[in-house]
Amino acid sequence: GHERFRFFGNVEYGSHISLSDLRRHYHAVCFATGAQTDRRLGIPGEDLAGSHPATDFVAWYNGHPDYEDLTFNLDAESVAVVGVGNVAVDVARILCRTTDELARTDIADHALEALSESRVTRVYMLGRRGPAQAAFTNAEVKELGELDGADVTVLPDEVRLDEFSKADVAAADDAKLVRKIEIVQSFVRKSSGKPRSLCLRFLVSPVELTGTGGAVSGMKLVRNRLERSGDRLRAVPTDSFEDLDVQLVFRSVGYHGVALPDLPFDEGDGIVPNDGGRVTGEPGIYVSGWIKRGPTGIIGTNKPDGAETARAILSDLRVGRSWSPAAPTAEAAMNTVRTAQPHLVTYDDWQAIDESEVARAQGTERPRVKYVARESLLELLDRTA
Ligand code: NAP
Repeated sequence: GHERFRFFGNVEYGSHISLSDLRRHYHAVCFATGAQTDRRLGIPGEDLAGSHPATDFVAWYNGHPDYEDLTFNLDAESVAVVGVGNVAVDVARILCRTTDELARTDIADHALEALSESRVTRVYMLGRRGPAQAAFTNAEVKELGELDGADVTVLPDEVRLDEFSKADVAAADDAKLVRKIEIVQSFVRKSSGKPRSLCLRFLVSPVELTGTGGAVSGMKLVRNRLERSGDRLRAVPTDSFEDLDVQLVFRSVGYHGVALPDLPFDEGDGIVPNDGGRVTGEPGIYVSGWIKRGPTGIIGTNKPDGAETARAILSDLRVGRSWSPAAPTAEAAMNTVRTAQPHLVTYDDWQAIDESEVARAQGTERPRVKYVARESLLELLDRTA
């Protein structure tokens, strides 16, 4: 809402505007494009129907316009979510929530409808290492134990710490880590008879997805043990295998950044190479967030990260280390964008969408009812213009 800030929505760097457009209008640019693709497992059967990146499911239930038409086999009885980070927790939670619980959230309507018909009764979250190495954070995993319609369980043998983990936990002297392990170990308990079960598994890795008629019908798991490898404990496969009867699989093993046109890119780390936010060899160009440091950290981590980049931009501007734009006015920038993208969404437009979504939810328990399709969003803006 600040008078010196402008928002240009529905505009894509590389298709609607280029780096040379930005150089014509701005003294500096900061990219905060995140990490947009999922990492793969690299195992046979990964591309069978019913095997999906968790990111697709998250975008679908959150109402991303490009993901509305995806379908997921919610007739499945058993589902595996591979990975034990917060995205895996989010996916497991959505699969386990009751329709009543979901209906109080801002989940997209198409997802609410599909999930209310879901036949899923068992959800497995699969960690390749132990609870002491799990990537989820405490508040998020604790919530899994508080679901109305699902009992959370773990296997006692898998949540007992091995000698390496015990030593690492003792050396770390980290109260949050100790608490995390306590939370996970508290899930060794009897089922209270809720209709769904959510089983957190540790020290297992999928080695193959098996299929029937081109669709996932099972997963072969190998049991792992931990081995020290530098300052990390690594999962090493044993010769003990197990078959898991699952008909739907989400891989949630982290994200990877995508290269941006005309910018340097480090393929290995999936980031734009930079020093504290200053893009290497490109004065005037900055990065912040996951495209700067890789896909780690919760929202709170991005605040100091953004502040560091902001300080770099300001100190460079002060000493004139910036671009020299030929047309630096707000109007000139607006003209360039509007010419390339007539369906530009401004901040006023964004507020109109927000107000309308909140108004649509009045009289219900939902915080908002989202518009999903691009056309419905643009039609709304035409109506309110
Ligand atoms: P993440 O935190 O990096 O977790 C990835 C998980 O995948 C780890 O458990 C990792 O295990 C596992 N993994 C990686 N490769 C694997 C493989 N080949 N086989 C089996 N497991 C494998 O990633 P994320 O869950 O996608 O989350 C991304 C970021 O968003 C995180 O920083 C997260 O905290 C944040 N986030 C936060 C919230 C929230 O605050 N509520 C919600 C969503 C996301 P290893 O440790 O063994 O590598």
